[in-house]
Amino acid sequence: MGKDFSRGKWVALFHPPIYDFTAYDLWLRPLGLYRLASYIKKYTDFNFFLFDYMDRNSPLAPPTRSKKYGTGKFYRERTEKPEILRRVKRFFYRFGIPRARMEGFMGEFPPPLAVFITTGMTYWYPGVGEVVESVRRVWGNLPVFVGGTYASLMPGHASQFGEVIRGEAGCKAVEVLGDVSGRRFSCGGEPLTMLGLSGGNSSVFTTTRGCPFRCSFCASFLLHRWRKRPREIVLGEMEMAVRLSIKDLALYDDALLVDSASHFKPIFREVASRGWDLRFHLPNGLHVRLVDEEVAWLMREANFKTVRLSLESVDEDFLRERTPKLSLEEFERAVLHFERAGFLRRDLVAYVIVGVPGQGPSSVLKTLDYLEKLGVKPSLAYYSPVPGTKDFQELVSRGYLPEEHDPLLHNKLLFPYMEYSPLGEEDFQTIRRRAFEIVSALKV
Ligand code: SF4
Repeated sequence: MGKDFSRGKWVALFHPPIYDFTAYDLWLRPLGLYRLASYIKKYTDFNFFLFDYMDRNSPLAPPTRSKKYGTGKFYRERTEKPEILRRVKRFFYRFGIPRARMEGFMGEFPPPLAVFITTGMTYWYPGVGEVVESVRRVWGNLPVFVGGTYASLMPGHASQFGEVIRGEAGCKAVEVLGDVSGRRFSCGGEPLTMLGLSGGNSSVFTTTRGCPFRCSFCASFLLHRWRKRPREIVLGEMEMAVRLSIKDLALYDDALLVDSASHFKPIFREVASRGWDLRFHLPNGLHVRLVDEEVAWLMREANFKTVRLSLESVDEDFLRERTPKLSLEEFERAVLHFERAGFLRRDLVAYVIVGVPGQGPSSVLKTLDYLEKLGVKPSLAYYSPVPGTKDFQELVSRGYLPEEHDPLLHNKLLFPYMEYSPLGEEDFQTIRRRAFEIVSALKV
C-alpha cells in the first residue's frame, strides 16, 4: 500500500454485492464510480481506491466460468430469501466477492476520509446495507455518500445508508469532499473517464447520456439529462482503452443513435479509420428506427460484435401506448441493413419485454413467433416497476403497489405473482421454454 493511503487522506469507492435470484456479468461495471474517480483525481488531491465486489477478475474473487468478450458468471452464495419474495420458487443468492474476504482486504487500509457507494436496481439495496455495515465494522463512523440509480430514484429510502447524491455525481462529489475535509476545490469540465479501474481486459463507456424518449416503463430521463458527450472525450477514452490493453468495450448508451449524423457516425468513422484492436458491444437495445445503411456498415467496420435491438413487442397497441420508438416495418428494415452490412441474422439479438402490467402471454408468444420467422434471437427482458415512471405511478394509483412499500417488490422475477400481471407462473415457464427453443435452433 502506498503512502498516499494514510488515515483520512483517501477516498473509498464501493460497488456493492448483489442480492437477487439471478445475476449475470453482461459487462456489469461501475461506470458511475469510474467517472467519480476521474473527477476526484482531476479536481482534488485525494487518492482513491475502488472496492468492486462484482469484479470477477479481482484476486479476491473465487474463480467462475467466463464466457466470450469479458462476460461470465458471478461467484454466488445461497442466502436466505426475504419473506416478501417467498412466493418466487427459486433460490436466493448473494453475488460477488465474499464478505469476509472483502472486509479482510479493507482492513489493510487505514480509515479513509469518506466513502462513496454506487447503487443499481432499486431492489438491490440490501447490498448497499451490507457495505455500510462492513465500513462501520472495519473503519468505524465515517461520512458515507450514496449515489447511482437506486439512490437517485428513491432518495428517501436510500438516506438510511448515507447522504444521497442524486444524478450525475462528478462535481457534487468534489464539493462534498471539500466540505468533509474543510477545504475548497474548484470543479469544471468533464475529465476523461478512467476505464481501467476494474480487472480484466473489458470495460464500459458511453458516447451520450440519457435518452430523449419517454417510454412508460423506463427511468432513463429521470437519471440523466439527454446529451452528447464531447467527441474528443469519447475518442480519448477509446484511445485510453487501447493503451490499457482493453479489448472489449461495452457501450452503456441508452440512445446511441439519436442525432447520429453529428455524433455516432463521425465518431465511428474515425474509429474505423484508426484500426484500433477493440471489439464493441451493445448490452442495451438500439433504436431500430435510427439504424440506416451507414450505421450498420460502420458497426461492421468498427468491429461491433454484440448488437442488441429494441423490439419489446409486436403488439401495435403496446408499442403505441408505451414505447413509441419503433414500428415493425422499421425493425425489419434495420435487420436488413445489418444483414447487408455483413452481420448474420442469428447474431442479432432483440429484446422482448415480459411482465408489463396488463400484458398477456399471447402477446409475448406472438412476438417470439415473429422473431423466429425473421431468424433473429430473442432475449427476454423482465418487467420491473421503476419509481418515477408512468407505469409505476399507475400501479400505485390503482393500488397494485402500496404508496409505501419495500423496493424488493420491484424484483424483475416477481411479476408472475403480482395482481397487475395476467401472466402467471405457468405462462412464464412456457414463454421461457419457447424463447430457449428459438435461440437453440438459431445456434445450429
Ligand atoms: S426504453 Fe429506451 S427509448 Fe425508451 S426511454 Fe428508455 S432508453 Fe429511451
